[in-house]
Amino acid sequence: MQASSRPTVLMAEREEARAPGDLAPQLLVVLDTEEEFDWNAPFDRDARSVEAMEDIGAFQELCDEFGIRPTYVIDHPVASQERGQRLLREYAADGRAVIGAHLHPWVSPPFEEGVTSVSSYPGNLPRELEARKLEALTETIEEHFGRRPTIYKAGRYGFGPHTTTLLERLGYEIDLSACPAFDLTADGGPDWSRWSAAPYWFGGGRHLLGIPTTGAFVGWLSKAGPALHSAAGRPPLSWIRSGALLSRSGAVERLMLSPEGYEPAHHLRLTAALLARGVRVFSFSLHSPSLRPGCTPYVRSQAQLERFIRSCRQYFEWFLERLGGEATTPGELRERLDTHRTEPSQPPTKA
Ligand SMILES: [Zn+2]
Repeated sequence: MQASSRPTVLMAEREEARAPGDLAPQLLVVLDTEEEFDWNAPFDRDARSVEAMEDIGAFQELCDEFGIRPTYVIDHPVASQERGQRLLREYAADGRAVIGAHLHPWVSPPFEEGVTSVSSYPGNLPRELEARKLEALTETIEEHFGRRPTIYKAGRYGFGPHTTTLLERLGYEIDLSACPAFDLTADGGPDWSRWSAAPYWFGGGRHLLGIPTTGAFVGWLSKAGPALHSAAGRPPLSWIRSGALLSRSGAVERLMLSPEGYEPAHHLRLTAALLARGVRVFSFSLHSPSLRPGCTPYVRSQAQLERFIRSCRQYFEWFLERLGGEATTPGELRERLDTHRTEPSQPPTKA
């Protein structure tokens, strides 16, 4: 098993998905929809409880209010248990939400690998095992939701060297696994630190659309961000490990478009910086267990949950009402970017 995979090499064959010049900023909302687990403990095959799925209603209603159809990328414990399926089936049937697949290998059959932090990134698994796990998950979703998923997000952003061909074989069209600005190699995961936040076409015939989780280094030293962050882990720069000093000075901060660990001011700074760089597509993401207090480190109490939902509301309001952006889904966006790609650049002249 590989200790680390390098997506910058793995997906070297890709091209930026250019947006039409008049495209309003596009907003996607993605929920990693999964079992509750102890974020500070080793991975556990038996942690399959999906009780927190009963509490996703408040967030769905917030999305409904703004006309946002969130994408729930669901993993095996959610897809295979009634408690996980119930509300999602209703939302999907009403056209209020979209269902995709999310692979957490340690709770996704077949169970053949040892459970370690390296094997928790599905892209690190041997080719055949990654394939059989994703096949089983895809079929479970199809069986319970009546439709085969075409949107994938690797658990732990763990896209690997075999993932592209696997997605193609299983009929996937969209991948949400990229996590720009974050280097996960210390834990055995991929290095996304130099990855762009813009969507891209990849795979044979550039048929697959990659839409990254929105993240970036922001600030006047942002170009040096990846190098600073990797240097910061080693002496003599370990004093900036937290990034606090640099970030207080406005030099560089690493931001993600998520209510988990980031505040509305971060969301705005990140979005403004990326808009200035020409990025038009924004993917706001969170984990479903954060919607029940006590399940993730980000939401420990009812008061924190209210604050969490409020920060989502603030961003949606700002993006859709003040900025003039539009809510979209991965499938709608793919269609739009694909149409733009195939349009002739000059209007055809009559012979
Ligand atoms: Zn996950």
